[in-house]
This record gives sequence, C-alpha cells and structure tokens, in this order.
Amino acid sequence: MKKIFLVFFPAGAAAALYFWYFNNANSPFGSYFADRMGLAMAFGRLAGIIAMLGVMGQLLLVSRAGWLEPLFGLDRLTRRHHLAGLIIPLALLVHPPLVVWHHAMQTGNTFLAQYLAVLRWGDVLAAACGEFLIIAAVALSLPFARRRLSYEAWHNAHLGAYLGLALALGHQFSLGRDLSAELLYFAWVWYALLAFTAANVLWYRLQLPYRLYRKHRFAVDRTVMETADVMSVYIKGKELEAFPVEPGQFALLRFWAPGFRFQAHPFSFSAAGGGELRFSVKKLGDFTAALHAGLRPGTPVVIGGPHGVFTARRMVTGKALLVAGGIGITPLRAIAGRLAAEKKDCVLVYANRTRKDIVFEAELAELERSGSVRVRHVLSDEPSWAGEKGRVDADLLRRLVPDLAERDAFLCGPPPMMAALRRGLAGLGVPEKQIHYEQFSL
Ligand SMILES: Cc1cc2nc3c(=O)[nH]c(=O)nc-3n(C[C@H](O)[C@H](O)[C@H](O)COP(=O)(O)OP(=O)(O)OC[C@H]3O[C@@H](n4cnc5c(N)ncnc54)[C@H](O)[C@@H]3O)c2cc1C
Repeated sequence: MKKIFLVFFPAGAAAALYFWYFNNANSPFGSYFADRMGLAMAFGRLAGIIAMLGVMGQLLLVSRAGWLEPLFGLDRLTRRHHLAGLIIPLALLVHPPLVVWHHAMQTGNTFLAQYLAVLRWGDVLAAACGEFLIIAAVALSLPFARRRLSYEAWHNAHLGAYLGLALALGHQFSLGRDLSAELLYFAWVWYALLAFTAANVLWYRLQLPYRLYRKHRFAVDRTVMETADVMSVYIKGKELEAFPVEPGQFALLRFWAPGFRFQAHPFSFSAAGGGELRFSVKKLGDFTAALHAGLRPGTPVVIGGPHGVFTARRMVTGKALLVAGGIGITPLRAIAGRLAAEKKDCVLVYANRTRKDIVFEAELAELERSGSVRVRHVLSDEPSWAGEKGRVDADLLRRLVPDLAERDAFLCGPPPMMAALRRGLAGLGVPEKQIHYEQFSL
C-alpha cells in the first residue's frame, strides 16, 4: 500500500503534464503550439499547472504522512520542502503574464489594459490575492528573511499561504480550460491529485493526533527541574505501552491549556518505552519559558507523532558512539537507554559548558553502572573539572574512542558542532551511512 502512495503523486503529476500537452495539441480550436499566441496560452497554463503541482507536492512533504516520513524523517522532508518551495513563485510569476499576453494578442489591447480586464474575470482577483500570499510566504522563508522573523510570524505567513491556496483554487474551476467538461482525462487526474493531497493533510496533520489523544488521553503527570533551565515533563495516559515510539524520535506537542493550545512545538522523547513518556524542555524563548513557568500537572497534551528516523534501528554496525551537545542530549538519553537494555557497546560523549549544565547526570551514571554504556563528559568552561575539558571535535573523539570507524555515530547538538563533527568523522574514515544526526530545527 505504501508503494502505491509513493508513486501516486509522481504518476499523477506526469499524467497531468501529458494531458496538458495532449489537450493543447488537440484543442478544437487547433493546436496551441502552432503560433506565438497559442504558445503563450499553452505555456501560461503549464506554468499554472506546475505552480499548483508544486503547492500540492509541498503540502504532501509537510503532511507528516506515515507512508512518506519513515523514508526520510520529518526534518529532512521539511528541508526538502524549503528547497522545493522556490519553484512555486517562479511558476506563479510566469503564469499570469503569459495568459494576459495571449488575450492581449487576441483582442489587440495593450498588455496593461488586458491585465486590468482579466482581473475583473470571475475569481481572478481572488487568485491574484492568493498568489501574493503564497509568494509572500515563500519570500519570508528565504534564509535572510527567516533569520529576522520570529517563528510565530513565519508560521503565520505560512497559514496565509493556505488562505492563498484557497483563494487561487476558484479560478481554476471557473476559468481553467483543462478542467472543462470536454477534457475529462485531465480533470480526473487533477481532482484525484487534489483529493489525495487534501486527504493526507487532513488525516495526518489534524485527525491522527486527535485520534491518538482519544485513545491514550495523554496528560502532564508531573514536571521535574533537571537543571536551572531544563525541565522534564512526564506524561501519563492510557495504554502507553501501546504507543509506538522508538527511542530517538520526537513529537509535536500541543498543551491543551490557555496560552499554549494554539502552538505545536517539536520535542524529542528523553525517555520512551516501557509505559513511560518524558520530554525535557530547555528554556529558550517565549513558549518554552511559559512552559517552565506555567505548565500544570493534569494538562491534556495532544501528541503529534512520533516522528523521525534518528533511532537505533538505523545502526549498520553493532556498536554506537553518541555525541550530544547541551539539550541535544534528549534523544541520545533515550537511545542510550535502549542500547543499555540490549547490552550493546555504546560510548556517550556529552559536551556542556559547566557541570551545572549537565542534564540527567545521575541517570547517565546509573546507565554506566549497567555495564555496556561508557559516558564521557566534556566541559568547556569549568577550570576545576578533572575530566575532559575543551570542545568536542574529531581529534578529541579519536582520542576517546579509537575504534570510532567501527561504530555508528549519532550526533545531536548545536548546528556548528554537528557540522564540524560530520566533516571530522568523515575525515576519520567513518562511512556516511554510519553517521546519523538530528537537528533541532524544522
Ligand atoms: C526535531 C526536534 C526536536 C527537538 N527536541 C527538543 C528537546 O528535546 N528539548 C528542547 O528543549 N528543545 C527541543 N527542540 C527545540 C524546540 O522545539 C525549540 O526550542 C522550541 O520550539 C522553541 O520555542 P520558543 O518559542 O520557546 O523559542 P523561540 O525563541 O520562539 O524559538 C527558537 C527556535 O526554535 C524553533 N521553533 C520555535 N517554535 C517552533 C515550533 N512551533 N515548531 C518548530 N520549531 C520551532 C525555531 O527555529 C526558532 O528559531 C527540538 C526541535 C526539533 C526540530
């Protein structure tokens, strides 16, 4: 079934493009490929079709679909979504001028006069507003704009793109020649693609988390301060053993209480399995500070997920090297627990500034006592520390873990540390398929 879902969209998109060609070459008015005027219309339509295929593809990439996500992981899908998004504004910017140009050649109007006339046709003004909203969402996601925006502002711009899509749909149905009754095949394919996309978004993003909630009735059991700025949230619920989470995965959490319920934030499970769920949250910005200050036991939690492929299932060797920086310990704490239970050889290198920043210090010591896990703390700003001092880099790892090329490396920490380690480990001969990483950004 998964395979059918995987080929459905590419096959549908290919069919739509074929029928675009067929319809324009065999139109009752003659081939649109015969002269400049026809070509303008044919390629104007093509740009519209590509823009819409782009939007549908984008929605599928971030639909959190269960048939797609396990292949890549939600974070990588989200990054592909960022890249692939660029095609949409390009196609959207080409579509109206070509169609207007076609009509201007037909009527003899100037381009501007024709543009203003077309704007008054059914649903075109709404579509133009929709186009503006979609292009704005893409523009605000470009790195230089994104860096200057708060997450909430960026997220609202994306919600605006959904409105833009709704506004743009109308003119396809009222004016889109390819969707007209006599060109049935294109229309069937198109409606199937629209229905497939809508069904995936509605099911995986909206319906599934609430079904899970109805089944498990997740709620905050208690909160525990791990360090001055990291708080663990223990989750209680019904049949938690049946919740299918793998250590290393994360979930999108929506706390159902005033001030929290309109935002879903991603957090890794710092303990998962055996009927216990725990997240550990570092105070970083508005939302996490509010959680530290105001999250109360009993608060219902809607859990979207679990998501992610950063799990011990990815191991291709029998031994692991886990490297954590700061709050990046959360998924690795859960993975270390699983490896300890399976008696797998595992070294955990954990970087922090000072001893007070170490999260789960006692738990990690307990894991070490279990036998198969070795923990090495590395502190960069603790002169009296008797253990490893400085920054975690490839040289330090080679010294602490001489057999690292025979291990799967799992990395989670600040982006510069991870980028340097990925390069460094590759340089030390660790094959790419043995290097796994999780980034705390979607
Ligand atoms: C896969 C993954 C796993 C994570 N696991 C943990 C964890 O175990 N513990 C932990 O403390 N933190 C974790 N984070 C980071 C955590 O999601 C952010 O720190 C938190 O959302 C910040 O929210 P804020 O409003 O307090 O901070 P802000 O200052 O508003 O945001 C800081 C940054 O966090 C990101 N962010 C903010 N809101 C969201 C959102 N709703 N969805 C996605 N990203 C957002 C943005 O990149 C933003 O720039 C994880 C992130 C990801 C992507």
